[in-house]
Amino acid sequence: MQAEGRDWKSVLAELRKIREEDARYDDGGILCSMCTSQHPLAKRAHQMFLNSNLGDSGIFPGSQRLEKEVVYKLAALLHCRTNAGFIVSGGTEANLLALLAARNMSNRDCPEVIVPESAHFSFTKICNMLKIKPVQASLNGSFRVDPSSLERYLNKNTIAIVGTAGTAELGAVDPIGKLSDIAQAHGVWLHVDAAFGGLVIPFLENAGGIDLRFDFELEGVNSITVDPHKMGMATIPAGGILFRDLACLEHIKTETPYLTDPCQYTFVGTRTGASVAATWAVFESLGKNGYKRIVKRCMKLTKHLSKSIESLGFELVTQPTLNILAFHCADSKLLQEKLRQRGWFVSRVPRLNCIRVVVMPHLKPRHVEAFLNDLGRVA
Ligand SMILES: *Cc1c(COP(=O)(O)O)cnc(C)c1O
Repeated sequence: MQAEGRDWKSVLAELRKIREEDARYDDGGILCSMCTSQHPLAKRAHQMFLNSNLGDSGIFPGSQRLEKEVVYKLAALLHCRTNAGFIVSGGTEANLLALLAARNMSNRDCPEVIVPESAHFSFTKICNMLKIKPVQASLNGSFRVDPSSLERYLNKNTIAIVGTAGTAELGAVDPIGKLSDIAQAHGVWLHVDAAFGGLVIPFLENAGGIDLRFDFELEGVNSITVDPHKMGMATIPAGGILFRDLACLEHIKTETPYLTDPCQYTFVGTRTGASVAATWAVFESLGKNGYKRIVKRCMKLTKHLSKSIESLGFELVTQPTLNILAFHCADSKLLQEKLRQRGWFVSRVPRLNCIRVVVMPHLKPRHVEAFLNDLGRVA
């Protein structure tokens, strides 16, 4: 840090310049992200609540009420009867809190968690932090976890099983109904990672013949991650964690002596109320029908894009269930690089040697046409 401060104008000018280095969702080139341009009202609400700290919510009862209301709305959407949950920094923290609750409640010496091969990498971090041994269950031909593989790994050390409703790689939805039966039969915790799918699946018009049930209507589900900062179009950071039972909150509680709150349940201490207000505002503004329209548009574009990519001669990894698609190609690294040179950010799944495209709400039909044009050229 320099000794003397600078004038605001020059600082802002420099920031504006540096911001030019970042990509913008609205330009339509970002096809690799599970985040999107925030709803305009989310931005306004976020600004209004920059002052608020939910880590010391006795000073911010209004912000705390907004968090309760957002959790309540998410719980109602996902058929949860309790209001036990929090808006946290993201899917990673939400998954962390779920496994922390499961581990502390089961109190095993050598805890293990069974996660599908396709589970998000946050579980690797979490297992590392919580000293839980991750055990990988294999997938079937449509990239959903094979319930019998998962069941085979259950033993007395198992503290939880995990299913994903909308994998980050392919948007696949694990057979959560079957996992729920297994969880109930063995009395084991079932956590559903619906960070992405939790705000897509409830608004889908057509499940394409797949059983997409994933929420608390399934009796074996104990906790769900659902992130407003992805398909919810809220501002970052807004992850969500919901629990079926209020009682499990005791197991993730930390006392906070000198704050206005007697205790905290989240991992992050000082945490913003701004993105919570933003989430509240988007929920109010869009309502279920607003989200349905957005999901419908994304799914329509996804279908169009998959068909067109197939007619360019590529093979889809699998028919998309949600607004994520992936296709095989001879050299995915090279194709990614060539697309990058033309302004497109796509991601790769090295494990499957494929290119992955996430069709988020910021993508417009004209972006998709331009992308297809360039893909045809570079291929
Ligand atoms: C994005 C995502 C996460 C991680 O969420 P962050 O907000 O990046 O912490 C976890 N699981 C799934 C399925 C995701 O899509």
